[in-house]
Amino acid sequence: MRKKIVAGNWKMNTLPAEGVELAKGVAAGRGEVCSCVNFIVCPPFTHISEVAKALEGSDIAIGAQDCATEAKGAYTGEIAASMIAALGCKYVILGHSERRQYYGETSETLNKKMAQAYANGLTPIYCVGENLDEREAGKHFDVVKAQIEEVVYNLTEEQFANLVIAYEPVWAIGTGKTATADQAQEIHAYIRKVLADKFGAAADDCAILYGGSCKPSNAAEIFAKEDVDGGLIGGAALKAEDFLAIGKGF
Ligand code: PEP
Repeated sequence: MRKKIVAGNWKMNTLPAEGVELAKGVAAGRGEVCSCVNFIVCPPFTHISEVAKALEGSDIAIGAQDCATEAKGAYTGEIAASMIAALGCKYVILGHSERRQYYGETSETLNKKMAQAYANGLTPIYCVGENLDEREAGKHFDVVKAQIEEVVYNLTEEQFANLVIAYEPVWAIGTGKTATADQAQEIHAYIRKVLADKFGAAADDCAILYGGSCKPSNAAEIFAKEDVDGGLIGGAALKAEDFLAIGKGF
């Protein structure tokens, strides 16, 4: 049985007190959603500690939105995987399209970040997805294949068993445009096949999340698809009520 996951990427939103309120709101309503759904919240680095305190005693996990390529040292402004693990994070989002696009993340940097995540016991949520030009040119399959081959194929079997993938078409992120449930299923099934080509039957156990304007009104239809195991949620994760309602989509 694959894990069902609803993960909230808060991005660069909320001040610490607002983040704590949001986390408390999610924890307060969590009981209304099937315990089979694994909720993860990914606050900005600055509030991880306080959010972790607010979520004590709940089953809501915490993730970071990124980590450094190096273990420690003279890397001004960077946050090491060991630091976020020490604050209670279990997950780390890596390769989000905003980091690829605005901060020049490449497969080379992501291989290093993945290694740091695993060395510190974190489960990466590795993001893949094509932009609009690539989708319109019919290149989306090749784009996600390369993003997987260049990074995920370098993992050991043991590391792969501890990986979550998020398929996020860049044209759907924060735009209000969502991939149709059929488009999501088509590419999720393809991603699973690419994973199976390297890791065999273990690919059946890998959770593949959909991300891109996922909201309460479309989550159920998307999550009903065989190869969609949940969502990575941006905008709708900033309202506890909407985030929880997405979880009810299972
Ligand atoms: C995201 O950036 O991971 C995301 C899915 O954002 P949104 O839900 O706002 O499209």
